[in-house]
Amino acid sequence: MLDIFETLVAFDTTTPDQSGCLDWIANFLIDLDFDIEWLNAGTIRNLYATKRFGSQPICLFAGHTDTVSVGQSDHWFHNPHEMHRRDDKLIARGAVDMKGAIAAILEAYRTAVKSPACSFGILLTANEEGYANGLGTEHAVSVLKKRHEPIDWVINGEPTSQTQIGDCIKLARRGSLSAEITIHGKQGHVAYPELAINPNRHMLDFLTHCSQMPWGQSQASDSGKTSLQVVSLTSGTGFDNVIPAQATCLLNWRYTVDLNVSELTAWVEAQLNGLNIPYAIDWRHSAKPYQALPGPLLKKLTQILADKNIPSVISSSGGTSDARYLIDLTDNLVELGLIHQTAHQVNEYTTLEDLTTLSEIYSAILNQ
Ligand SMILES: [Zn+2]
Repeated sequence: MLDIFETLVAFDTTTPDQSGCLDWIANFLIDLDFDIEWLNAGTIRNLYATKRFGSQPICLFAGHTDTVSVGQSDHWFHNPHEMHRRDDKLIARGAVDMKGAIAAILEAYRTAVKSPACSFGILLTANEEGYANGLGTEHAVSVLKKRHEPIDWVINGEPTSQTQIGDCIKLARRGSLSAEITIHGKQGHVAYPELAINPNRHMLDFLTHCSQMPWGQSQASDSGKTSLQVVSLTSGTGFDNVIPAQATCLLNWRYTVDLNVSELTAWVEAQLNGLNIPYAIDWRHSAKPYQALPGPLLKKLTQILADKNIPSVISSSGGTSDARYLIDLTDNLVELGLIHQTAHQVNEYTTLEDLTTLSEIYSAILNQ
């Protein structure tokens, strides 16, 4: 497996470049008798490959080959686009997010038994880390859904593990909704507040209302909690004797499937209308939440982890993922990958032991 890992990390796939990485994987899969299909959109490459075993439905592994930039290049021990060993660490950009998981599934395909439990499918995009604009996984899923591809199970290989491979499985993720709100007052002298309208006072009233809302826990216990964060607050002229003309805040909700977005936006706008002061609001809905079923795939995975004495939890923590599109293919979806601790960091690393364990878990799902 190390040969696969070493080859994958050697491609500089800073998003959204694939730099030959997907082509290499396609050739690897052709050698294993997979059928290859490119579900490209615009300049974005999306690889879909299958190996059918009779009428067995497909277990789809999904992921991305693109990586975030190397960041502070002088802080890396070595060239981040070459595997570098330090003790048991295998250091390279993309090691855990998520070329390591791709190496693990490719190894599982390479060593699969002759009559596995499912047909094999793999969907890889080169555009997950940047601004996908609907051209990556979202596009590929829409094509597969339209033609009713027989996909029963989906494993998303994002790095979900916390300190041990398999200790954390994602079955749901929260959505992300932002609002930039500007409240317009009237500028004036602080000594004559009756001649001005202080937008900061209204902003504080509004934010107090927001912070007192019980955004709450999801009905589904593993969906987590909706939370609201005030991301920024700006106002003022720089002078302590001037009431400013406007105040702006940026809010972000991470929300569960239980929250109705149109009800939330209506509630926010009702609060602002209640202030009786001009305002402007700019909504940005960047991700919908998803909630998968605790179905047969989860049951099988839980058994595999129990057999390996790996205690695991189900969580919805972390950022958004492409699983929010993949859920349109099947409710039987799990996210399970390497340990996320060094994802996107300088000197990102995994270990051969972790790669091997993950590959064994993937392999058990396919073969048992
Ligand atoms: Zn990722």
